Amino acid sequence: MDGCAANPAPRKIMPGATIGVLGGGQLGRMLAHAGGRMGYRFVTLDPTPDSPCGQTARQIVARYDDREAARELARLADVITYEFENVDAGVAAMLEAESYVPQGSGLLFTTQHRLREKRALEAAGARVAPYAEIRSLAELQEAVARLGLPAVLKTATGGYDGKGQWVLREPSDVGPAWAEASRTGAELVLEQFIRFAKELSVIAARRPSGEIRTFPPAENVHVRNILHLSIVPARISDAVRLEAEQLALSIAESLGVVGLIAVEMFLAEDGTLYVNELAPRPHNSGHYTMDACRTSQFEQHIRAICDLPLGDTSLLTPVVMVNVLGEHMKRLMAWLPDADPEAARLGVEPKLHLYGKAEAKKGRKMGHLNVLAPHADAALAWISQSEIWRTEEA
Ligand code: ATP
Ligand code: MG
Repeated sequence: MDGCAANPAPRKIMPGATIGVLGGGQLGRMLAHAGGRMGYRFVTLDPTPDSPCGQTARQIVARYDDREAARELARLADVITYEFENVDAGVAAMLEAESYVPQGSGLLFTTQHRLREKRALEAAGARVAPYAEIRSLAELQEAVARLGLPAVLKTATGGYDGKGQWVLREPSDVGPAWAEASRTGAELVLEQFIRFAKELSVIAARRPSGEIRTFPPAENVHVRNILHLSIVPARISDAVRLEAEQLALSIAESLGVVGLIAVEMFLAEDGTLYVNELAPRPHNSGHYTMDACRTSQFEQHIRAICDLPLGDTSLLTPVVMVNVLGEHMKRLMAWLPDADPEAARLGVEPKLHLYGKAEAKKGRKMGHLNVLAPHADAALAWISQSEIWRTEEA
């Protein structure tokens, strides 16, 4: 697979056609909901039977690196997309040869590896946190001396929800972090720690023809490295809003994106925007669009890969998206059946989305609520008084 592989010649995929989704998680499920409404059929490939997407689509139960299963997906689908970026290179090549993958494998190849991604971002004119490739303890020590502390050591591949990351605060953290990180066998990168005022994300959609639209920037709050809240509109100046949107546009253009690209950013105290990472797919921080925008990120992705005109991304109402993790499920279920006088008093409307996952494990994303409100503050007030996210320690 080649990092600069050209995208295939665009085709219009009309309703009635079958969309194949590699991965059967919640992102695939919400794609199938949005696309199903538009008249598309869905087939997903996922190793877990009765996956979130499999509950709404036909499912092939097989491992992601199973070539025969991928061939079957290619046979059943008119167009193929994916809901996670760690697609096996061999499978991606086979799907491209035997089916139509409008997103191409070039972008996947870039975003699968933090170093390749950072180089592509720099080539697109974006600023990233100062970083260094790390192949030995000596290189790590040299990079720490150059970039300073705190810094974050990350595996170049395979990380999610903060897994595969070690924050180095003191010189004495270097040795133990190296010991653990080098044991993973993955390539490593050291990043300067950005003291950000806020984390932001912008999702852009691009069609093969070059038409691009961005969704309004989300302000993201993580708890224990997992996204907790996305606040929209983000509480930033108009100048920063414009710059964040422009940044996402230029990255989508420069990388020749087809479909969605989510751009995660740090807004530093001095107003500088750094790009943290990219995701070439629907993104958790874009779930707010399902209830708060004229077009959801899922519908937009379908439109982009099927080469239909992109939808209007305007925000209809302030909203706060809050994730429901495994540990929140009991209290969510207890809250659900009864009227909520506090929501009525604050004028907020919490819209529930659950993903159909059987086991409510700690830290597992089970669903989310889009809390629509006259102002984001009212949604935040409702969330902080709610029992659902009450922390055990508090
Ligand atoms: P996810 O899949 O949830 O997006 P991930 O495991 O791919 O996460 P990152 O997005 O790189 O990892 O990092 C997770 C979080 O850790 C960031 O959202 C941010 O809060 C913090 N973080 C990561 N890198 C840095 C950095 N260089 N400076 C400051 N904070 C950082
Ligand atoms: Mg991230």
